[in-house]
Amino acid sequence: MHEFRDVLLRYLVGSCKSDGFGRSASGMLASMFEPLHANPDRTVGEHRHILVTGSRVIVRVEVAGSARTLGDVEAESILGREPGDLILGRLGSVYYWASRLAEGQMESSSLDDHRLGDLRSLHGVLSDDEWNIAGRATQMLEWQRDHQFCGRCGRANEAVRNTRAMRCSADGTMAFPRLSPAVIVLIERSDGCCLLGRNRGWDIPMYSTLAGFVEPGETLEDTVRREVFEEVGVRVDNIRYFGSQPWPFPNSLMLGFVAEWVEGEITVDGDEVIDAQWFRPDDLPMIPPPMSIARQLIDDWLDRQT
Ligand SMILES: [Zn+2]
Repeated sequence: MHEFRDVLLRYLVGSCKSDGFGRSASGMLASMFEPLHANPDRTVGEHRHILVTGSRVIVRVEVAGSARTLGDVEAESILGREPGDLILGRLGSVYYWASRLAEGQMESSSLDDHRLGDLRSLHGVLSDDEWNIAGRATQMLEWQRDHQFCGRCGRANEAVRNTRAMRCSADGTMAFPRLSPAVIVLIERSDGCCLLGRNRGWDIPMYSTLAGFVEPGETLEDTVRREVFEEVGVRVDNIRYFGSQPWPFPNSLMLGFVAEWVEGEITVDGDEVIDAQWFRPDDLPMIPPPMSIARQLIDDWLDRQT
C-alpha cells in the first residue's frame, strides 16, 4: 500500500492552495462537462486545447495567479502542427481537446506568457472546471499511449467509434480507460468522537480519515470494513456513502464514506498508520486542507455534532 500512501500524501498535503471547495459533497464535483467520444465539427463553437507532456500541461498565464487553457492559434504555434489529437468533451459551447507535446518542445519555445506545470501545482491557478478537464487529458493520453497494441496478442489496437475504448484488430479484445477506486472513510462513535489517523508518510503532524484501494471482488463496503480493521483494528458498520472526488495521480477515484464504530480498541498497523485517536469536535488536531474530500468528511461530521 506504499504506492497509495504516496498518492494520498500528494492528495492531502500537496494542494493546500484551496479555492473555496467548501461545498457539499454532492455539490463539490458538480460540473456541466459532457464527455465526447466522436470528433465534433471543428468549424462550430470554440475549441480549446490541453497540451500534455508526461503529467505536465501547458497553460496561458493571465493575471497573477490565474491561467487558462490554449486557443487554436496558441496551441498550433507551440505544437508546430494542428492540435487536437483526442477529443475530451464539451463545456457549454467550448470543446476541449488533448494533444501530446514532445519532450523538450515547450522548453525550446519562446512564448514567455505560457507556463508548463504539473497538474497539482496548477490547482487553484486554472479554474476548477479546466483543472478537472486537464486531469482527464493527462489520463486519457496516457491510456491511449499505453493501449496502442493488444495486451493479449500484441497486434495493433484501433479506436472504437462512439465509445472510449480501444479494440484489437485481430481478436477483438477491448481496453477501456483504467481507474483505481479508493475508499476514504470517517469513523464516528455514539459518544460524539471521530477516529482520525496519522500516516507514516506525512512530515506534518496531521490527522485524517482512513483510506485504501479497492481490491478486485470487493464491494466498497467490504473495502471500508477491511481497510479500517487492517489499519486501526476496529470494526465498523452502518456504512453510508458521502461523495466522491476524481484524483488523477495517476488515476484514482476517491469514494467517501461515513461509518459507525461497532467494537474494538484502536490498534494501529504501524506500517501505513502510525497513530490513530478518537477526537472530540472541540479538540481536533491538524486536519487536511479544504479541497480534499477528507476535509469535507470531517466538516460534515462537525456540522452534525451541534
Ligand atoms: Zn489481440
